[in-house]
Amino acid sequence: MIDPRHKILFEPVKIGPVTAPNRFYAVPHATGHGHTQPNGSIALREMKAEGGWGVVSMQITEIGPDADMANHPMDRIWSDHDVPHHAKQVERIKQHGSLSAIELAHGGIRSRNLSSGLPVLGPSDLPVLRLEVPAQGRAMDLSDIHEFRKRHKQAAVRAKQAGYDIVYVYAAHDLSLLSHFLSKRTNQRIDEYGGSLENRVRLLKEVLTDTKEAVGDKCAVAIRFAVHETSYAQAMRFDGEGRDVVEMLAEIPDLWDVNIAGWPSDSASSRFSEEGFQLEFTSFVKQVTSKPVVGVGRFTSVDKMVSLIKGGTLDFIGAARPSIADPFLPNKIKEGRVEDIRECIGCNVCVSCDAYGIPVRCTQNPTIAEEWRRGWHPEKITKVEGKPVLIVGGGPAGMEAALTLARSGHQVTLAEAEKVLGGRVNKESALPGLSAWARVRYYREYQLQQMANVEIFYGQALEAQEIAEFGADHVFLATGSTWRSDMVGSCLLSPVDTPKDVRLLTPDDIMNGTKLSGSVVIYDDEHNYMGSLMAEVAAVQGCKVTIVTPHPMIAAWTDFTLDQPKIVKKLTSLGVDWRVNEEFEAFEGSSVHFACAYTGERKTSIAFDSLIFVGARLPNNHLATELKKHMPEENLSVIGDALVPGLIQAAVYSGHRMARVLNGEDLSQADFKRDKIEVL
Ligand code: ADP
Ligand code: SF4
Repeated sequence: MIDPRHKILFEPVKIGPVTAPNRFYAVPHATGHGHTQPNGSIALREMKAEGGWGVVSMQITEIGPDADMANHPMDRIWSDHDVPHHAKQVERIKQHGSLSAIELAHGGIRSRNLSSGLPVLGPSDLPVLRLEVPAQGRAMDLSDIHEFRKRHKQAAVRAKQAGYDIVYVYAAHDLSLLSHFLSKRTNQRIDEYGGSLENRVRLLKEVLTDTKEAVGDKCAVAIRFAVHETSYAQAMRFDGEGRDVVEMLAEIPDLWDVNIAGWPSDSASSRFSEEGFQLEFTSFVKQVTSKPVVGVGRFTSVDKMVSLIKGGTLDFIGAARPSIADPFLPNKIKEGRVEDIRECIGCNVCVSCDAYGIPVRCTQNPTIAEEWRRGWHPEKITKVEGKPVLIVGGGPAGMEAALTLARSGHQVTLAEAEKVLGGRVNKESALPGLSAWARVRYYREYQLQQMANVEIFYGQALEAQEIAEFGADHVFLATGSTWRSDMVGSCLLSPVDTPKDVRLLTPDDIMNGTKLSGSVVIYDDEHNYMGSLMAEVAAVQGCKVTIVTPHPMIAAWTDFTLDQPKIVKKLTSLGVDWRVNEEFEAFEGSSVHFACAYTGERKTSIAFDSLIFVGARLPNNHLATELKKHMPEENLSVIGDALVPGLIQAAVYSGHRMARVLNGEDLSQADFKRDKIEVL
């Protein structure tokens, strides 16, 4: 039963000629499927509609070959050729009563046109806005502008043919030709499309008007607009030109979908931003327009959602990541099951997949992007004849396996050595900025506690003999991993003997409470978030800290989670010194030497009190070796970090996957469905 306090979230809202059934709005976001894997993308979005999102949006959809963003897997509506798969997408969203939206886009000087081979187009003669891509954009002349408007209009007509209810005009993220025309930074024209704000906004206004003319009889026309840019010189500000643009165009679109730019600001991780972090920039919009407004900010708190609607800040609760972590968030609220929501933890693993060009993965939702290819559902699992199953280790892998098995009907016993569940999630969520990661545990522990067929033993470090004697039909070992202390990492693959007098620590030591003082060196040969967190912890404890990495970049993988520049800024603000392209060479007395990663020539020697080595991890799998002596191997599954150390997301996925294997699903290597390629 719906809580009366939440009823306001389920009111229908009119958007131009269409009406959304409720206020839950799954905003455009990439899924990594792009135009080459439409089946996965369609099924992922259909799941959100099934889960109750009143509006479900497509990602950036290129309007033509000169808007080509390859290598990034975007969608396309270049020509009539693309209409059928969009029509399928629409049909599958609408059959659940939701509205479907498409975000038409031209990437301007974010397009690379590497696959189409056409010249990149923008307001001015400037390099494309990806530093590593050696290409430039060409200043559009008036006939180019005319052609662009024509193409945008054609794309809108195709979107209407496909059946979309809402057609977007896209001017956000600094990823759009229209935002490049708007911005002083990228628009250096001296004609009627450059100079004054009135001139710079002209093209956006024309395209909005064109789109309304073309499809406004049946489709709502939405604008996605970044009211505030965070990291550029001459940026648009919410209390300056950003507001002026909203005032100038206030009543033209049928809906305002507002956010901040660029993408790293819009999709900020929880390490650097709280729920609702965009509101200080976007909340003015409703005061300026009478049209409905949607805003985002990783909203998962229902009270917050209600207060935003009641307080007149937003008309729709926009969500990308919360709708990935829990596609059924709206229905759970509707059914009065708020405590069942799988809250997004803001880790940006999803973002990293999309940025890396692969279908999205999620730490909280192991079924995402598996809806079509494996037929997985985030809320339903086939019931099987239950067996007694023992799970050893209550980290993310063990908890997820326990939950999946219990939901399938098995009798589950979960034994955890510590007095609390959570494993590495508990330890990592105590590190600076990561408190939201504890939701991985909270969600699963609560669910497990509600189930009659689950028994949890806390403070039980089981030995092989005890496990074998327990008498379960099947045993899952989810005993985690241990950080290596022998300097083996991504670059150095052979162990190094550490001299006895060297204080060499690992992240496990620090997370277990070892204190630091004096000069601390972090050697990061893992290249994800952990090295930077160790530096942060050491700096906060008052140490003189240097972080050294053989990679050309600090915390390289976090470039894909969009955290990397923020990490460098944070470390710099804490006084941490950093050195890149330098690899471990040797310990000598109380010093450590680092050499150039390319030439091997010694570059740096640092006298230190403690060195924290962040490299590879070893799986804690000794129990598996022992157990095989006591029980048949086929009754044993090793999962998560104990099988192969990786991301928390990978551990959750592993637990989920292996539970399904026990249920009889055939999940051998090459079994998942793949989109059919037509060879002509
Ligand atoms: P994963 O990411 O694969 O879930 P974690 O390291 O987060 O791995 O969790 C492993 C958990 O297993 C830890 O909480 C640890 O205390 C627990 N554990 C390890 N060995 C045993 C054991 N012999 N008996 C019970 N629990 C164990
Ligand atoms: Fe949220 Fe992380 Fe899942 Fe992305 S991967 S939706 S940030 S929990």
